[in-house]
Amino acid sequence: MATFGYTGRILTVDLSSRSATDVSTQDYADRFLGGRGLAAKIYWDEVSPEANALDPVNRIVFATGPLCGVPLIAGSRWTVCGKSPAVDRFSYGNLGGTWGAELKFAGYDAVAVHGRSDKPVYLFVHDGTAELRDAGDLWGKGAIDTREALQAELGQSAKVVAIGPGGENMAVMANVIADNDASGSKGLGAVMGSKRLKAIAAIGGGRRAQVAQPERLRQLLDQYRGLKRGFPYYDEAFYDVLCRFSRDTTTEIKMIPDTSARMKKQPCYGCQGKCPRRTYRAGDGGAGKFMCHSAYFYQPWAEQYYGEWNDVPFHATKLCDQYSLDTIAIDLMISWLHQCHEAGILTDQNTGIPISKLGSWEFIESLIRKISLREGFGDALAAGMDHAAEQVGPAAKGLVDNAGIVGEAGYNQPYGPRLYSTTGLFWATETRWPMYLLHEVATTVSKWVTWRMMGFGYFTSDLLRATARMFWGSEAAADFLTYEGKALAAKMIQDRGYARECLVLCEWLWPIVDLEFTEDHMGDPTMESKLVSAVTGREVDKEGLDRIGEMVFNLQRAILVREGHRGRESDTLPERSYTVPLEYDVSNAHCVVPGSEGEVISRKGAVVDREEFERMKDEYYQLRQWDVATGLQTRAGLEKLGLQDVAQDLEQRGLLAAC
Ligand code: SF4
Repeated sequence: MATFGYTGRILTVDLSSRSATDVSTQDYADRFLGGRGLAAKIYWDEVSPEANALDPVNRIVFATGPLCGVPLIAGSRWTVCGKSPAVDRFSYGNLGGTWGAELKFAGYDAVAVHGRSDKPVYLFVHDGTAELRDAGDLWGKGAIDTREALQAELGQSAKVVAIGPGGENMAVMANVIADNDASGSKGLGAVMGSKRLKAIAAIGGGRRAQVAQPERLRQLLDQYRGLKRGFPYYDEAFYDVLCRFSRDTTTEIKMIPDTSARMKKQPCYGCQGKCPRRTYRAGDGGAGKFMCHSAYFYQPWAEQYYGEWNDVPFHATKLCDQYSLDTIAIDLMISWLHQCHEAGILTDQNTGIPISKLGSWEFIESLIRKISLREGFGDALAAGMDHAAEQVGPAAKGLVDNAGIVGEAGYNQPYGPRLYSTTGLFWATETRWPMYLLHEVATTVSKWVTWRMMGFGYFTSDLLRATARMFWGSEAAADFLTYEGKALAAKMIQDRGYARECLVLCEWLWPIVDLEFTEDHMGDPTMESKLVSAVTGREVDKEGLDRIGEMVFNLQRAILVREGHRGRESDTLPERSYTVPLEYDVSNAHCVVPGSEGEVISRKGAVVDREEFERMKDEYYQLRQWDVATGLQTRAGLEKLGLQDVAQDLEQRGLLAAC
């Protein structure tokens, strides 16, 4: 195949037999592009639905996309997929940093691993070759320490994805941690641990990506950079502020003391980094990732405990990365532990964890260590909050749904459907928090809120309606008081989002929903297809790209159905969405949305209307050409997308709609 955009090779590794073979990327790339699409296809072909996530037969697939390694596009993120022990279904993580680009420069578009080694190993990929090496000395080390040890051994240019003790001991919330502390969640670190695969190190030897049409790419990048220039959402200082948590950013801007000396931009490979991707330097000289949720998760508790800003939240984040535990799962668990402690169900004595000192370093250190090493009550926690609650008893179980992040009890659906009616369909059909889909809605509305409430920016009500027409299918999609137009909007956002996950483009900068330096400020939904065409030399237009996204979404749906998702019956929201009034959202503290004429509406106190949500599902299934009664896929719908083999498999299992 043409080498433009791809190395042409996928590495498959069987750890049981300690053998490795190459597979042609072309078998996958023509239809699935790369990233999630490529990984989902490997998974569909090779992982039986009966497989346990921690069985040797489970695959863990690390995949790049065709734009990976091309500078200035924000396209060098990469994906990790496999059956997740956290949800016992296929799931995925999307990571930044430079590991993906290095893998590609080392000669591979993706690595698919199965089997189980009889002793700890790491995989070393370089110069188009791969070798398994003993990792006995690394086993037990933290993920960051492992990375540093491998860099000391192989050279500082080595990029490493690794697990810490949480992954080794198969805690269901174990992450994979890569260079620049990039992390991928949903328990795929436990899958690495189950295979005794400590790390994958890649050295690319300074190679660079090959582009089919460099002049066309240069022109596109000039256009892209020029249009984005100076946009407030891409301002450096804006993101320094974002690293310190404020419950309400419209009334309270909190700066980290000595911000400019402590915060440093740390972009992914070749990216301009107009985003919150930051490292923090602590008072003791330690440095590491500190952005978005990973920076926030312990801040409210620590500030409450110590009464002032200090470095404990940073060290808490670093500790999670060392042990390779997912901060979102830990955040929810902390909230549940707190509530159980308040109710007198869990104590310092019966858990061996100083819950009474929540917010302190002592508490977080004890919690993370006990989970990772499965010590005492930590063993129950390592199996997940639901499992631990089951063990503790009904009263503790009753508090699980009220666990929330960033110190807000019950806040476990950011950008949720009580606030934005569109997002319910994302929450109902995905196996994890679908941030890359939610952000398109939440960020767009936030820009409008900024203009409408604070008089800042250019995102007027007219622009919002025009944007909704172009990106979400109708003006009705910009009226968040109704469910009208939301099914189409959800489908369009998902199809576009899945195409982006195949490329793998960063959702922080894509799609281009709006532009500052044009008269009408309208965005450009065609830029992704132009870029991939210029890089690969294979012409694809916007509609073609969306169609690939739709196909990959359907492939993933078929995987989930094969693994137990029951269509309509399973496309549900947590019960609290229908019964507990909305109080708060992290990006929109006053829960403000636009009505039909751009009027300001507060959704505080709102719940999801059960009947309207079911009607929205009807419409969504029709748009997807799924069976409305059951939510199962149809032969006609799958064949239209070229998924005849998938239809055949589902039919044989009795999982295709009868119509
Ligand atoms: S915008 Fe930020 S997160 Fe996205 S690719 Fe660039 S540096 Fe990475």
